Amino acid sequence: MLLFFIPGACQTRLHYLSETEMKYEESRSGKTALSGQCRNWKHYASDTLIHGKPPLRTVRVNVHFMNNRAGTLTFSESEGRAYARDLIYQANMLWSKNAPMKLPPGNQTPVLPSRIRLELSPDSSKPGDDGIYFHYDDTLSYYNFYEQSKIFYSGKQYERYGVGKGKVLNIFLMEHYPDSMRSATYRKRNNGVGFPDWVMVIGCYTESKRIYVDERGDSISFGSWFMARLLNHELGHAFGLHHTWRGFDGCDDTPRNPNCWNYTHNGGPCDSLVSNNMMDYNTYQDALTPCQIGRMHANFALRGSKQRAKLRPDYCRYDSSAGRLLFSRDTLLIEGQHDLRGDLTVGRNTVVRLRCELRMAAGTQIILEPGAVLILDNCKIYNACGEKWKGIAVMENRKNPARVILKGESHVLDVEQEGRPSAKPAP
Ligand SMILES: [Zn+2]
Repeated sequence: MLLFFIPGACQTRLHYLSETEMKYEESRSGKTALSGQCRNWKHYASDTLIHGKPPLRTVRVNVHFMNNRAGTLTFSESEGRAYARDLIYQANMLWSKNAPMKLPPGNQTPVLPSRIRLELSPDSSKPGDDGIYFHYDDTLSYYNFYEQSKIFYSGKQYERYGVGKGKVLNIFLMEHYPDSMRSATYRKRNNGVGFPDWVMVIGCYTESKRIYVDERGDSISFGSWFMARLLNHELGHAFGLHHTWRGFDGCDDTPRNPNCWNYTHNGGPCDSLVSNNMMDYNTYQDALTPCQIGRMHANFALRGSKQRAKLRPDYCRYDSSAGRLLFSRDTLLIEGQHDLRGDLTVGRNTVVRLRCELRMAAGTQIILEPGAVLILDNCKIYNACGEKWKGIAVMENRKNPARVILKGESHVLDVEQEGRPSAKPAP
């Protein structure tokens, strides 16, 4: 019975602020000065204050097999379906197990989780669709190393056969021209290309039929596990990454290197300087640096980007486990564009300065404990999916009130509770 008389946090009343109750400290400048800073990869590699790590991003993909009209160039439809599913599975295994960088030798580069996954995405408007397609086309199905610009880079396959354009990343699997393959001088190297809307990988079928017998007599076949590396490399391009071995790729943690395929043991540079980065050409392709991860996640976070349009839009779904309490003696600065799926609580007497954008999932709220200060510094808080979130609420406390301060071009939009004087906090 005593419990009923103990005063506690559960009796604190929440008051949802209207924008007029928030204090403008600086006049509106008319433009946001931060747009460049908002894209900096550092705000995305480890989303420490919001999630502790980047939010898991699931990219919707589908797979197209380009075959000739005779149906002899690549897998049969039943083989192809199994291969496509396995290819996505193998690619996800690599995305989920980021490896330590081999270069530079002795590096201490942090190994962060990529937090990127692929998902085969059928077209829901077509009954029975499984996101795997077969095309029988004598013009657009053959890859020739010497005539790449004609059908390789042209995007004609995507133009003609693309499904879910703009919302699903289309993966095209092509094969070499069989006559070329018989020529001793033809470069039958595996190849690929990656753009934000589609990627193309050459040689999956050819590789799957190749069997290598090692010195011990063990045979290895080059199935989807092998080509998943090349697919991920092309997806890396699609997500905004560049090659690392030559020139500057926008990252300080991806060293230039001789682009060795593997160790050579011949006294040359490839005895030691073999990269395992996903964006070099090597047999491993299983490592991503913090900058590379941050750059991809910046693209996934960027409002209106082609990469963001391919995501499963779960960033708008409420997730109570994604709630976060921020508590610090120092001012916490949160920059970049972030999606928040749970409630954000700013702890007692904690100062949080938000820059850029914060997208709140429907049903979420920001709660300020007594004495908390939330500074919106050229920051927009809104819902990215045309829904409402609850808004910013302060725990009422006359002696030590919480405050919201707006600076520059700052807005709090899509709020459900605006103008509502008070409400009981959630239990
Ligand atoms: Zn490349």
